[in-house]
Amino acid sequence: MPLSFNGQRILILGAGLTGSAVARSLAKRGGDLTLADENPSVTSDYPVIHANNVLIQDFDCVVISPGWRHDHPLVIAAHDAGLPLLNEVDLAWQIKSEIAPGQKWLAVTGTNGKTTTVEMVAAMLESGGVKATACGNVGQTVIEVVDRSDAYEVLVLELSSFQLHWAQQAQFVASAILNIADDHIDWHGSFDEYAQAKITILDRASTAILNADDGEIVKRTSHWQGHKVFYTLDTPAPGEIGLVEELLVDRAYVEDPQEASMFAELAEVKPMIAHNVSNTLAAAALARSVGVSHEDIRSAIKGFRPGRHRIETILSADLINWVDDSKATNPHAATASLLSYESVVWIAGGLAKGAQMEELVERTSKRIKAAILIGADRALIEAALIKYCPEVPRVLIDGESSDELMEKAVTAAQGFAQSGDTVLLAPACASMDQFISYADRGDRFAAAVKKVVGK
Ligand code: ADP
Repeated sequence: MPLSFNGQRILILGAGLTGSAVARSLAKRGGDLTLADENPSVTSDYPVIHANNVLIQDFDCVVISPGWRHDHPLVIAAHDAGLPLLNEVDLAWQIKSEIAPGQKWLAVTGTNGKTTTVEMVAAMLESGGVKATACGNVGQTVIEVVDRSDAYEVLVLELSSFQLHWAQQAQFVASAILNIADDHIDWHGSFDEYAQAKITILDRASTAILNADDGEIVKRTSHWQGHKVFYTLDTPAPGEIGLVEELLVDRAYVEDPQEASMFAELAEVKPMIAHNVSNTLAAAALARSVGVSHEDIRSAIKGFRPGRHRIETILSADLINWVDDSKATNPHAATASLLSYESVVWIAGGLAKGAQMEELVERTSKRIKAAILIGADRALIEAALIKYCPEVPRVLIDGESSDELMEKAVTAAQGFAQSGDTVLLAPACASMDQFISYADRGDRFAAAVKKVVGK
């Protein structure tokens, strides 16, 4: 463990999962650690002080957790004092470079589909006999995984725009950008800054795996000079990965680009909906970049299902499907979700995080049979519905508790749903105004469906 922070007074901004993992790793390396947080009730094995009480001159360097804004007074103070500003991903990279120099890193970013894609890539690598794991914004932090004694051969990093904003050193064999749409605008300040943070995932990548169907990605990466592999739900050109009728086809990682190697059938992707197929193509490209065979990729695809609260069917009764896509926390995800079904009774609302709802409703209005609206920013969705489909019935739901709220929402949805319809929880918003998390929101929806509808 040669990388040493012996005697250094390190201030870690944020005592959450990332901050605590960084603290454990740097404590092992001799660091003298203090965590700072804005939440007075947070606890840790290391001293935690309130962010307002930090004296920046007491420290030699600062480690920033991803959610902290670049204009936070402590970040500005650290900057003005000339203190090194470190972050978890780069620290993990430094540690990896010393203890596991042969370990390869793959990276995935995008507004939606990151978790599903990194988990698919890890499954494909494991199917190919490569010791690999997904980490970062999913599962364990990167620094925890790097520090394990039984080192992995490949790490598949899920990186949020926040992490990318801070990371400056980590290098990737291949980095994928899945899509770029409005999200976290409140944190980044503008769509342009958010989108640019995503593009920085290519700064130190050898290969870029890029979604050719996303105009924003194509436009914003046109200047990038490295090796690009585009993937598409259309027929792939030479050098790309895509679909030919009912087959997933590789024309990038083949000896002769005029050749097209089929690596899976469309029907083997579950659920077989457009955005999940797109994620599968991205995952296959990443797995190919480190040499996994088509056969091993195919067997992983056959066994893979996205995690909970992602287009998860809770109940099918009387030819009505009840689907939990609580993870659709922004309009882009909710759009993909709504476009996956013909006729939807839509449960939506929560915290919009600065995102606009108009494009979502304009694109999907023909699929919406009725809308059940909850949460702080439901008026935004209601206004878009009034503008683009005023004839669609709207019901606003309040509740004393989150259980009562969901039961009322499900009961209202039941009043509209008929055979052939899908009742879809795809909120287009974050959950924290009324629920603990998106998972809590999805669990309460599932419980309400079972109680109100289940027989
Ligand atoms: P992330 O980690 O980026 O939040 P997830 O895999 O957890 O991604 O999926 C988040 C939400 O986005 C889910 O509601 C899912 O159905 C939806 N989704 C997944 N992939 C895509 C995609 N490629 N395009 C649009 N929406 C997607």
